[in-house]
Amino acid sequence: MAAPASVTVAPNGRLLRLSAAWFSDGVRRRAEARRDRRCVECQRPLPTRRTPYCSRACRWKFQGHYFWEAARTYVMYRDRYTCRLCGTRRRARELEVDHITEIGDGGAALEYSNLQTVCRPCHRRKSAESRRLRRARTGPSPSP
Ligand SMILES: [Zn+2]
Ligand SMILES: [Zn+2]
Repeated sequence: MAAPASVTVAPNGRLLRLSAAWFSDGVRRRAEARRDRRCVECQRPLPTRRTPYCSRACRWKFQGHYFWEAARTYVMYRDRYTCRLCGTRRRARELEVDHITEIGDGGAALEYSNLQTVCRPCHRRKSAESRRLRRARTGPSPSP
């Protein structure tokens, strides 16, 4: 399922949530999944109605359609805690999750196809590179 298009983005570009969508769409889908005893994310049959998730990974993945923190946790898990740029495996706190196409360039904020796990040095390098590319595209920024 694609996340709704409108998201709240903090000035630092990091705090993303779709609270309104969560409280309408997300909560409803969760309730339906419990009623039908099917995992809300992967549709696998569930043994009880106590939870709508078959696994931690499905909980992260489902909540990540609405909340950045969960999306981030899920993407690191999906990428096996390995930087997709240099292939180094690291602890979660040494990793970051990057928007492949930046939000400012029109990339989707909470779309798993636009998210990748990166280590800090690679992330810094990539950000510097895209700043450079943007400058090259738009010309030098006017001096203050
Ligand atoms: Zn599942
Ligand atoms: Zn790296």
